[in-house]
Amino acid sequence: MSYDNQNIFAKILREELPCIKVYEDEHTLAFMDIMPQSEGHTLVIPKVAAETLFELPASHYEACFNTLKKVGNALKKAFGTEGIMMFQLSGADAGQTVPHLHFHLLPTSIHTLRTS
Ligand code: 5GP
Repeated sequence: MSYDNQNIFAKILREELPCIKVYEDEHTLAFMDIMPQSEGHTLVIPKVAAETLFELPASHYEACFNTLKKVGNALKKAFGTEGIMMFQLSGADAGQTVPHLHFHLLPTSIHTLRTS
């Protein structure tokens, strides 16, 4: 699989497109989803060119998981929830629409998700 460096999140990483940043470090970026499925819907992406989780180099696992924990904890605090829904779609067959690895974080109960 070849990585398309013209995808939207690659452009956000290169600051060619704007985003509402929540957190950033050397290896990862977290920003608000443009079409949130709940209040606080946040995306975490690695800065490495990886289309799906299967292309993520092992050397980036720790950075991604550290950011997921940091941002998840911040969202719990900000939205007063005990739980965070996290999901990740790897591959178009799984419903992935932007071909740069991203993790969804939703500080919500599954019962309050938008369905339309
Ligand atoms: P997927 O379906 O690939 O797992 O999720 C892609 C997510 O990216 C969707 O939730 C969608 O709303 C979000 N998204 C698509 N384009 C943009 C954009 O230009 N900016 C931001 N912040 N999010 C986007």
